[in-house]
Amino acid sequence: MNGTEKLQRLLDIVRDEIIPLSESEIQRGNHIFGSAIVRADTLTSVMVGSDNRVENPLFHGEIDALNRFFKLPVRPSPKELIFLSINDPCPMCASAIAWAGFEELWVLFETKDAEADFSMPSADLMYRDLFGVEGIRAENPYFEKHSLKKAISAGSNHEELRKLLEEIIKRYDAMQPAPFDYPGNSSG
Ligand SMILES: [Zn+2]
Repeated sequence: MNGTEKLQRLLDIVRDEIIPLSESEIQRGNHIFGSAIVRADTLTSVMVGSDNRVENPLFHGEIDALNRFFKLPVRPSPKELIFLSINDPCPMCASAIAWAGFEELWVLFETKDAEADFSMPSADLMYRDLFGVEGIRAENPYFEKHSLKKAISAGSNHEELRKLLEEIIKRYDAMQPAPFDYPGNSSG
């Protein structure tokens, strides 16, 4: 599988598996942030997760997928898997991905992607206010972080992928999560 096919598969998982779950979960009062755990060899999903703040404010999309994944009686090693998140994970989720042993993280958007208003201000503020840093280091001893949007923008033969990405952005733009009382009084 070449690099373009990999990007295509990851976008397909966002559109066909993460988005339908998120669209249903925002009806229950949850946020739009979803994630998937994907086999690195076949690029098929093993688990999909959604923000589940209604049940527990710690159940972000990443934590939800991890909790479900580790309940599987038989599961691949995280080293054989890709963690796919809609947006740059918050400090809690980035640490959880590292603790779980994932070595490859893909995000659809990075917090600094100006045109995608996906960032949760609380998450950005926590990096800054708790740790004095701006976010995740893309290269660190635990995992390598890649941006789908950046990889798609970089390719000269990615016309179809760009169209699919536009379609995905429109789907997210149409989602309207209910207000939520964030810690630190930031809105998001
Ligand atoms: Zn999080």
